Amino acid sequence: MGFMDDASLVRRFMDADMQLTLDALDALRKREDTGAAAERVLVSLREMGGRPFLITADLITKILKEENIETGPTPSVPPIRPSVPEVEAPTEREIAEKAPEFARTKVKLRASEFEPRVEVFKDITGRSYTEGKLKDFVNVFRDRYERLSRILRKRVDLHDAVPISSLKNFEGRELVKVIGMVSEKRDTSGGHVVLEIEDLNGRASAWVFKGQRKLMQKSAEVVVDEVVGIAGNVRSGDRAPRLFVRDIIWPDLPIARELSRAEDPACAALISDLHIGSEMFLEDVFMKFVNWLQGETGNAQQQELASRVKYLVVAGDIVDGVGVYPQQEEELLINDIIKQYDAAAKLLAQVPEHITIIIAPGNHDAVRPSEPQPAIPKDIAGGLYDLNSVMVGNPAWVSLHGVNFLIYHGRSFDDLIATMPGLNRQKSTPSMIKLLQKRHLAPVYGGRTAISPEQQDYLVIEKVPDVFHCGHMHVYGYERYRNVEVVNSGTFQETTIFMRRLGVKPTPGIVPVLDLQTRKVRVIHFA
Ligand code: FE
Ligand code: ZN
Repeated sequence: MGFMDDASLVRRFMDADMQLTLDALDALRKREDTGAAAERVLVSLREMGGRPFLITADLITKILKEENIETGPTPSVPPIRPSVPEVEAPTEREIAEKAPEFARTKVKLRASEFEPRVEVFKDITGRSYTEGKLKDFVNVFRDRYERLSRILRKRVDLHDAVPISSLKNFEGRELVKVIGMVSEKRDTSGGHVVLEIEDLNGRASAWVFKGQRKLMQKSAEVVVDEVVGIAGNVRSGDRAPRLFVRDIIWPDLPIARELSRAEDPACAALISDLHIGSEMFLEDVFMKFVNWLQGETGNAQQQELASRVKYLVVAGDIVDGVGVYPQQEEELLINDIIKQYDAAAKLLAQVPEHITIIIAPGNHDAVRPSEPQPAIPKDIAGGLYDLNSVMVGNPAWVSLHGVNFLIYHGRSFDDLIATMPGLNRQKSTPSMIKLLQKRHLAPVYGGRTAISPEQQDYLVIEKVPDVFHCGHMHVYGYERYRNVEVVNSGTFQETTIFMRRLGVKPTPGIVPVLDLQTRKVRVIHFA
């Protein structure tokens, strides 16, 4: 049995949101009725009603065995993992209505009764050594390729990928897989799409034919400079080999992952895009939020929730900055950057002392705009350093009470939305999920997101986070994707001229609060 059969088997399960282990693949291949057995397994898995599974050989054997003895109703096989319902975050009203749950949570410890546990494990702050030379760019792209190809090769459907330089040995019907960085993407006059791909030693042209509708859709989602897996058939000519594409595979996240949880009943409130200094900064709404943190407002259940907030994460755009967008001065209340940070520090100083504030910069903050951005410097924002705060860069990988956060402001959404079909500014989580699937925070190079070529590509999403927290869109959103809490924390700024021109309707004053112990997200509306 060749590559093709493996790939289509694996894909069959992936389409149903399940991942076959290598053992499981072997178990299916060993059978004479591979295809039919796989279909029967899929049917019984679906009937189990559980959510994403890692499909092991044991499970397959068990399903096929029970099927042989039993006639009658579908055998019930215990799910490997308890199912996790994909729920929308409840509204404030729904929280208020769930009284019994409150009765249970009332006895929980307050956040002031236990110590914070913060660990910053990846952040450019203090580690930027780039000179921005051409060789630095060559190095960072090589590093991007190496890191992403390692992630891709771990996938069951790409473990047998070959170097592009060896493609000439595979001419013919055999399905071959390669892992390449897309150096160019173009449409031919005949309406086909050509992806020029390269790895460290070779290059090839990968052709997607216009008749293949599903593949054409996939190719529309490919962006230049990202690293993808490609399966195809080889036609070598006198020039570089051509690959006739049969599938395009993104690194994506593993399907089955444990939910990591805090031992203490700690919560994290997630905010971003305050834009202090702007006339449009909603100070009164922000103060309602601070008063809630102080335990002074809200119903009993909301007060209980406030008492358990141990962390406040700010994902960038703390201030509005100066000269960030055209006509900005017309909308500035404070037009001195240092005074903007003083005002920010004064407001944040009212957050209760036992709450650790994690502060990352955004594109409006006073730090180099190219990513990765180091923390906002002390000489500009000294007041923020005087708080119970941890100043980090953008992006930052931070563990809070054992739950891993990837904090990224979100500048690259501008480029992603402009490039990829199906994304827009009014829904924030789909763009975030695309970044997770591409395993890169700024996959589109050469757009509005400037990249600083460091020793390594800090923007590769190498470690899978538990929480992916972004801002920048000014639109609140929450979704759980493959056991990652994907949260966009919205804004505290009203519509600016600039946003009106972009057609963005912001959702100010909506604050998601993540319970790090139960992994539940609750949302409070302050506007
Ligand atoms: Fe912003
Ligand atoms: Zn922003």
